[in-house]
Amino acid sequence: MAKKVLVVEDNELNLKLFCDLLQAHRFETEPVRDGREALDRARGYAPDLIVMDIQLPQVSGIELIELIKRDPVLASTPIMAVTAYAAKGDEQRIRAAGAEAYISKPVTVGQFMGAIRDLLGPDAITDPTPDAA
Ligand code: MN
Repeated sequence: MAKKVLVVEDNELNLKLFCDLLQAHRFETEPVRDGREALDRARGYAPDLIVMDIQLPQVSGIELIELIKRDPVLASTPIMAVTAYAAKGDEQRIRAAGAEAYISKPVTVGQFMGAIRDLLGPDAITDPTPDAA
């Protein structure tokens, strides 16, 4: 059965990039554009992994990570944080909130899939379809 990934990202281009990339590797994806919906959507979707943009308009991705990690059902779901501004101390704050992985934009395909492989194990990654990145 395909692994499910909830992708929380307000930037439409990044959202499409992440979802296309994941789908090319046979993941099922659920896009969330509004961070305020992230917790409810995660509860409903029961993902195997959450990709979390940190810079969201109405809420902080760091706060969302903290909320997810306090949720009894979602707490064990690995979170990969994606951030545009890697200021000093950012990675520490993101990890302290509970994220298992952290990558900074601009994201390369190798970095993105590599981080997912580290989180879910090599068996979770299917080779991409020939026409996809
Ligand atoms: Mn953003």
